[in-house]
Amino acid sequence: MIKTSILNFTLEELKEDFKIKGIKQYRAKQVFNWIYRNGILEFTNMNNLPNNLIKGLKKNYKITSIELDKKLISEDGTLKYLWKTEDNELLESVFLPYEEDSRYSICVSSQIGCSLGCKFCATGIDGLKRDLSTGEIVEQVLQIQVDVSHREFKIPQITNIVFMGMGEPFLNYDNVMKAVQILNSRKAFNIAKRKITISTAGVVDKIIRVAESEEQLGLAISLNAPNDQLRDKLMPINKKYNIKKIMKAVDYYIQKTNRRVSFEYVLMKGINDKEVHLFQLISLLKNKLVHLNLIPLNPVSELNISRPSQEVIDHFQKKLRENNITVTIRKEKGTNIKAACGQLRSSHKNGGS
Ligand code: SF4
Repeated sequence: MIKTSILNFTLEELKEDFKIKGIKQYRAKQVFNWIYRNGILEFTNMNNLPNNLIKGLKKNYKITSIELDKKLISEDGTLKYLWKTEDNELLESVFLPYEEDSRYSICVSSQIGCSLGCKFCATGIDGLKRDLSTGEIVEQVLQIQVDVSHREFKIPQITNIVFMGMGEPFLNYDNVMKAVQILNSRKAFNIAKRKITISTAGVVDKIIRVAESEEQLGLAISLNAPNDQLRDKLMPINKKYNIKKIMKAVDYYIQKTNRRVSFEYVLMKGINDKEVHLFQLISLLKNKLVHLNLIPLNPVSELNISRPSQEVIDHFQKKLRENNITVTIRKEKGTNIKAACGQLRSSHKNGGS
């Protein structure tokens, strides 16, 4: 009998499913509590449930469906996890602690591989294998929360989620949005929607859809080129959704949500770091409610691209600031394990969506 992952369900859905199976609906809340409040990943250990119910749950459902393959620990506390799925695929997540401001962030994957084939990205090299299920997305957070917890399950509490791991989250829209609901649910992780950021290579129709939902989600655009000619080459999705269409959708998003949109620009030596690119970038972003993240490229061994000198990076930042554009240079974390979120799958991290 095929078991359903319990992490695929919102609480309301689980109550409904329990009802269909003849299980009292209040039991769903208890199960949610064990999993998301106590980090219990075995039905057998849910010790306020009767034995016959535990037996029934074990017969119909599973809790975990990814298992740890490898964990890399960086000197600065960053942790990179490589998970193996039930069909033997690999996916990555990164835990990024910012102790100084009590922020604990997880960069999650939304797909295995990616169909978008950005030229600076290792994830896209082999194309898309498949979408991750809602449960597989939620489980990355759950397992990391369990792994990093000490004293009580909730310490440290995960405070931020970024969909910047493997894959394009807006091409797995339904599963990602349901995962967002569970991450946000007060009965599960209780992470505020404004602390959940979706990074996209520019899937315009989904940017509009999120804007219309008026969800207070964070939105990040992986831009990486300030003109269509270059962006067509670096990010083939630009042929479908060009810069003009993206900027129009971003304006609409800002108008609907009144939220600042982040742009990511991976600086690549000799490719998008020239003076002309800087001026095009300024004219695209000037006078908009945006924040620009400059990301010096994390070299991908399979690709022959490097980052510009520090002088060029600083020059970009200075000129952008002079034009009143809010800009930061992404602080590198986990460099000794090549695990910064911008590097996670080796590209999305490198500036991937
Ligand atoms: S950068 Fe992001 S969207 Fe582009 S191929 Fe890599 S994972 Fe896909």
